[in-house]
Amino acid sequence: MVPVIALVGRPNVGKSTLFNRLTRSRDAIVGDLSGLTRDRQYGEAKWEGRSYILVDTGGISGDEEGIDEKMAEQSLLAIEEADVVLFLVDARAGMTAGDQMIGEHLRKRNKRSYLVVNKIDNIDPDIARAEFSPMGLGEALPIAGAHGRGITQMLEAALGEF
Ligand code: GDP
Ligand code: MG
Repeated sequence: MVPVIALVGRPNVGKSTLFNRLTRSRDAIVGDLSGLTRDRQYGEAKWEGRSYILVDTGGISGDEEGIDEKMAEQSLLAIEEADVVLFLVDARAGMTAGDQMIGEHLRKRNKRSYLVVNKIDNIDPDIARAEFSPMGLGEALPIAGAHGRGITQMLEAALGEF
């Protein structure tokens, strides 16, 4: 069985940058404009010689009303089909209402999820983790996707049991 890992989170938290790093593809569009990735994007990647499927999503803004509208359809589908969800948040932006809404959905859905605090370059990882601890999704994994920090530990957590 090839595990499927979904990258979920608000637009602009760094999902596509991480996707590209892990799959070494340029398929996912990276940019400062929110919501650039419209559909789910699949890539194959390897960790310690084992293949897994990575799914990039367009993001859930949390600006809409009601849980069904708040969760972008593609992101919801990606969560459903994933074995593991990597829920990315932005250490620079801090915890937002959109983050809390996504976290709530993942808790209710009882999906195997890991809270990943991205963009910890220039930020103390412990402070970043503490800021997101009220999310109630356990110890956050601090990474800097653009620079490759924390990636090994994150993959070990997500894939270690497969
Ligand atoms: P997405 O909308 O979640 O897919 O986010 P993107 O991957 O498109 O990235 C949004 C912005 O965050 C871009 O300007 C990236 O260069 C930037 N970014 C991504 N990862 C990091 C990181 O580890 N550190 C910093 N400082 N910026 C990052
Ligand atoms: Mg993207």
